[in-house]
Amino acid sequence: MADRDLEELQARDAAHVMGTYGRQPIGFVRGEGTALFDTQGRAHLDFLSGLAVTSLGHAHPEVADAIAAQARTLVHTSNLYLTVPMLDLAERLARVTEWPDARTFLCNSGAEANEAAIKLARRWGKQRSDDKIRVVTLEGSFHGRTLATLEATGQPAKHTPFAPLAGYVDTVPHDDAEALTAAVTDRTCAVLLEVIQGEGGVRPVPPDVLAAARRACDEHSALLIVDEVQTGVGRTGHWFAFQGTEVVPDVITVAKALGNGVPIGACIARGTAAAALGRGDHATTFGGNPLVCAAAVRVLDIIERDGLVTAAAEKGERVREGIAKLVADGLATGVRGAGLLLAVTLPDRVAAEVETACRERFLIVNAVAPDAIRLAPPLTVDGDEIDLALAVLRDALTSVRADNAHEERSEDE
Ligand code: PLP
Repeated sequence: MADRDLEELQARDAAHVMGTYGRQPIGFVRGEGTALFDTQGRAHLDFLSGLAVTSLGHAHPEVADAIAAQARTLVHTSNLYLTVPMLDLAERLARVTEWPDARTFLCNSGAEANEAAIKLARRWGKQRSDDKIRVVTLEGSFHGRTLATLEATGQPAKHTPFAPLAGYVDTVPHDDAEALTAAVTDRTCAVLLEVIQGEGGVRPVPPDVLAAARRACDEHSALLIVDEVQTGVGRTGHWFAFQGTEVVPDVITVAKALGNGVPIGACIARGTAAAALGRGDHATTFGGNPLVCAAAVRVLDIIERDGLVTAAAEKGERVREGIAKLVADGLATGVRGAGLLLAVTLPDRVAAEVETACRERFLIVNAVAPDAIRLAPPLTVDGDEIDLALAVLRDALTSVRADNAHEERSEDE
């Protein structure tokens, strides 16, 4: 049956929105908890959380109340003046990072948080030597789409349409500690990396690479910046993924889940890095605005009160147990990631087909690599929803395998 409401949305999108996104054939009008409701009122189980954003589920009543109350009180003043929610948020970020000397720059997205971190590192470098401006990043990384963060993103195909770029980045393989050590020199102001590469396929960076990065930064007076935009705010079973490693960075960047869907980003630094940016060095009109900060403060308070960081680790175990059964039955080959940021790896490059088969069965997941499906449900997901999602995934995997076997047989005939 034709879905005229969806067709109308698609026509309006094609007419007046720039075509930068490959859209799924689906329009959502409402969300509640782990459920998203489409134009026909059908419920979909959301195991992607708007790309690891809505960690408290959709339309969380307490976050909605915090936004509504702040909207009726004070939405915006600019950074020429002090406002309370911004200070409340900066203090809470110091607590959850466990950095008592943390200082935060607030902005509006993950890319902006990384842009701020890169500028901070450049400033920090130039305070030591005029040519200390280079940044080392890892192949397969994703740090954003502004020109500086695009260049830091270790995916050359994304650079090509915009070349030439500034040429300030040295990129090394994500799993080669020696290459990383060799790339860091006295001209390096920072190493920028994710502990688990999210868009790069939910691919953990090996502990020896993280240790090498910390060591090289210390030897060459460079800053270690960990991009926690996707991994942060409890998703991996730690407040921040670096807390599950042996390594402590100088700077982290956060966004996505911090506002549960309200656009916000943060660049958080400790030690000498915290003082690198001074008056006039960086700014953004909306950064730290009372509306988004009130939302983020409530998000952090709920995660803390409801023990959702530990819950992410525990629920992640339940998902892993389900995936292990898929592996045992030959439908999947393994699992990558931590907490509730997981990728199911597949025997073939059929992730796009599996994503579609899941969507047709009202389960939202994402093909994060040609052979891997990303699962990132809200931290509030319950056991029944996990079991249901795994049953749907099993059915989708079985169906895609049967379709492909059928096609292969037809080709042979
Ligand atoms: N860094 C990481 C690790 C990300 O996963 C993303 C987005 O997916 C970004 C940065 C960019 O964030 P944004 O899309 O909010 O600019």
